Amino acid sequence: QSDLPLPVSTRVFTVSNQKGGVGKTTTTVNLAAALARTGAHVLVVDLDPQGNASTALGIDHRAERQSVYDVLVGEMELGDVIQRSPENERLDCVPATIHLAGAEIELVSLVAREQRLRRALDRHLESMERPYDYVLIDCPPSLGLLTINAFVAAREVLIPIQCEYYALEGLSQLLRNIELIERHLNPDLRVSTILLTMYDSRTNLAQQVAQDVRDHFPAEVLKTIIPRSVRVSEAPSYGQSVISYDFSSSGSLSYREAAAEIALRGAPQPGKRS
Ligand code: ADP
Ligand code: MG
Repeated sequence: QSDLPLPVSTRVFTVSNQKGGVGKTTTTVNLAAALARTGAHVLVVDLDPQGNASTALGIDHRAERQSVYDVLVGEMELGDVIQRSPENERLDCVPATIHLAGAEIELVSLVAREQRLRRALDRHLESMERPYDYVLIDCPPSLGLLTINAFVAAREVLIPIQCEYYALEGLSQLLRNIELIERHLNPDLRVSTILLTMYDSRTNLAQQVAQDVRDHFPAEVLKTIIPRSVRVSEAPSYGQSVISYDFSSSGSLSYREAAAEIALRGAPQPGKRS
């Protein structure tokens, strides 16, 4: 427990980058666990058919379980499919199952197909006596309808960037897409947070990339950098965040620091753009 400030209203983040393997899921899970550990009530929405975030939180996401698929494509309410992570009583998860792989196509013919997650989430938050402090949505590595649903449901975008040569490539496309969503579907959406991940301080390249990203996005990049660490990559196979798996490891420490920065910065001012 610590005394980080809790947000006055729910902060909804989509963790997004159309590249795979950049640390989206790892960041979602570990930030969520770190925030829950400081006393916040946190929901992770797993929107990737792979279900890696569900696995990492120790959540059952076998095909026969009800999941976010039944909310997006079916008639289920979010509250009916939420499971509590065994790791922390304040950490909940909406699991993804493999059925979600077909949802991109099934959603196409549905009414308000871009708004399905937002409406389900809003209904659920309104029904709660004490709504979540944070909702983190883990996106698949694509810009299809699942990711669009995440962008429409969120107010903030968190972009994890891997400190390697191609990091900035593709970022401008992601930012253009976010701008399109902002213009047409969700005027409140802001890129509030950029997190440098898998940093190897021994290489000049990683330092150079980190500096480049900071030069481009001075306001958004967190001070904290997540180092490359074996403990971080081991934790999911135990169905745990690195915070629970090895509390004093460098990965746990850095994710706890990143969570503190996010909490202390607070939500972006409405209407204000950087
Ligand atoms: P994404 O969700 O963007 O596809 P993941 O979060 O699944 O990316 O990460 C990709 C791989 O990199 C995973 O095997 C994960 O365990 C590993 N990984 C992520 N962050 C770190 C880190 N800080 N140190 C070491 N390995 C990491
Ligand atoms: Mg992932």
